[in-house]
Amino acid sequence: MYDLIIIGAGPAGLTAAIYALRAKKNILMIERMMPGGQVAVTKNIENYPGFERINGADLAVKLFEQATKLGLQIIFADALEYDIIGKVKRIKTNNGTFESKTILLCLGAYSKQLEVENEQKFVGKGISYCATCDGNFFKNKTVAVVGGGNTSMEDALYLYDLAKKIYIIHKHSKFRCDEASLNKVTTLAKKSNSKVEIILNSVVKKLDGTDKLESILIEDILTKNTRDLDVDGLFIAIGRKPDTEPLKGILSLDEMGYIITDENMNTNIAGVYAAGDVRHKTLRQIITACADGAIASVSVNNYLLNVQ
Ligand SMILES: Cc1cc2nc3c(=O)[nH]c(=O)nc-3n(C[C@H](O)[C@H](O)[C@H](O)COP(=O)(O)OP(=O)(O)OC[C@H]3O[C@@H](n4cnc5c(N)ncnc54)[C@H](O)[C@@H]3O)c2cc1C
Repeated sequence: MYDLIIIGAGPAGLTAAIYALRAKKNILMIERMMPGGQVAVTKNIENYPGFERINGADLAVKLFEQATKLGLQIIFADALEYDIIGKVKRIKTNNGTFESKTILLCLGAYSKQLEVENEQKFVGKGISYCATCDGNFFKNKTVAVVGGGNTSMEDALYLYDLAKKIYIIHKHSKFRCDEASLNKVTTLAKKSNSKVEIILNSVVKKLDGTDKLESILIEDILTKNTRDLDVDGLFIAIGRKPDTEPLKGILSLDEMGYIITDENMNTNIAGVYAAGDVRHKTLRQIITACADGAIASVSVNNYLLNVQ
């Protein structure tokens, strides 16, 4: 029986682990992929205080090492079922079932899909949701990035050094990203013979190819004109959503599926906490994920004092 099981080894979970281990709690971390979460696949981070610029993978390693040096116990498994209403909480994974007095959910958020026919068929065969992870496969190739937020701008900038041609397709007339990234991208697009082409008011309607993605059909939503683009890669960056399906009916979620907590990271169930991007909140960043993790860990300590 653990004092605390933390699910998710992103910045929220790892910060919570550091705090809990320093408070001498007996904890288990469950992670389905790799430590670091979204940070591990981010190229450069320039807004995490203390580091003018740090590579995401380096920050992920630093966070993980800090926790492991304190004695972090981690298993790599997918948390599948949550029996968390009673005093003893049970988490069923694909690698065993674990019991704890408290649970901290740091599940983060995932890329939304386009939901166009053949999308799944071409994942890993032209379609990617992470330019930093897969950009290298598209050296000197033609790619398209779909989306109008910070991630799509970051993807386009990352791909700029690699790809031969980059289309940026956005369904609205204006981008929804920070000015600095937008300026960088539009400056590149305005260069003569630029390899960046911005296509606004347009959506991807069709994905074509035999064994791999070969072309996409886009439609101008104002004129209804369509255009075929020959592309080797399509990077989908249209936002993120939490993977909280198994928690439906157990925890209070907002309409998007984000977990509702109070400012101390308490969910509607005693002894169950949520921190980081998975939580209903206004700013999803590394620093806010870390802050949530620290607060959640202190809330866990206070809860344990009362139940022990
Ligand atoms: C491309 C990109 C660039 C970004 N750039 C910046 C930036 O410059 N600055 C900044 O502050 N923020 C940036 N962010 C946002 C930042 O990375 C996130 O806000 C932060 O990582 C959230 O941390 P988290 O711990 O809440 O979640 P995550 O980092 O998403 O970690 C969640 C972890 O939980 C695991 N998990 C989920 N479900 C399960 C399950 N059922 N079982 C086991 N494990 C599970 C996941 O595998 C993952 O490792 C960026 C994000 C992206 C995608």
